[in-house]
Amino acid sequence: DLLVVGSANADLVIGVQRRPGAGETVLGTDLAVHPGGKGANQAVAAARLGARTALLARVGDDDHGRLLLDSQRAAGVDTSGVLAGGAPTGVALITVDPSGDNSIVVSPGANGRLTPEDVRAARDLVRSARVVSTQLEIPLETVAEVARNLGPGSRLVLNPSPPQPLPPEVLAACDPLIVNEHEARVILGDREAGERPEDWARALLATGPRSVVVTLGAEGALVASAAGEARVPSVRVRAVDTTGAGDAFAAALGWRLGTGASLTEAAAYAARVGAAAVTRPGAQVSYPTAAEVDAL
Ligand code: ADP
Repeated sequence: DLLVVGSANADLVIGVQRRPGAGETVLGTDLAVHPGGKGANQAVAAARLGARTALLARVGDDDHGRLLLDSQRAAGVDTSGVLAGGAPTGVALITVDPSGDNSIVVSPGANGRLTPEDVRAARDLVRSARVVSTQLEIPLETVAEVARNLGPGSRLVLNPSPPQPLPPEVLAACDPLIVNEHEARVILGDREAGERPEDWARALLATGPRSVVVTLGAEGALVASAAGEARVPSVRVRAVDTTGAGDAFAAALGWRLGTGASLTEAAAYAARVGAAAVTRPGAQVSYPTAAEVDAL
């Protein structure tokens, strides 16, 4: 009942004592290769919770693509919408220093070749989904085509990450638009943003979405719609690695909305899922099952 349209990347991670400067070479740890990318992460997060989940994405006809397909299938995701070929699988080259700070170079690869035509070809999948969840690691024109092809009973959830200004037709289709502070500021651009999450949420609502969710890390989230605003707390946990927490939050929120939960209920559940995800290292491997969320 949840369709994720988005990116799939191989995360190539090397630990370093310090980052190399221009023209310099440093030695690092053994290479670790993990399945990642916001779309792939969201699909795995939802499926692990028990959601019937499908992924529309593009990978390369290569080993990284097979790694991503394997992790989707292991989580129980319907991968019939995963296209292969056209470019190498997207890659994130990640160096992590001893303080835990990372530097990342992303090569979108096949993600950049997920086109509006691919969305039209998968029209039945899009129209029949209760909730379609997407992000911006694929071309914006592809996200716009998703917005145009929604069924009468389907609802679009967009996490505009990495953020860029959005056209009115995309903003108007979002229910909700899910942003952190940085994404809120980029989407708002020159508009008066204010200092409080409530201010950003109101300013964002004025740009067209039917609802807005602002994620606030350990503070949880704020939901806003024409019906008003509400703060949703997270659970107090010991954070080990926040990688992929936002993706787990968005996926859980979309799934719960599809089961008929209110925006506030769905966000409260998603906050618990996000909290569970930060208690373990990694992205997809850190995602909880529904039983683990209930036990939190
Ligand atoms: P993003 O990674 O997109 O910036 P956040 O950091 O706001 O997103 O995390 C998404 C959600 O995960 C939060 O709304 C919250 O529910 C949960 N979360 C993130 N960090 C923590 C934390 N340190 N403690 C508890 N919950 C957290």
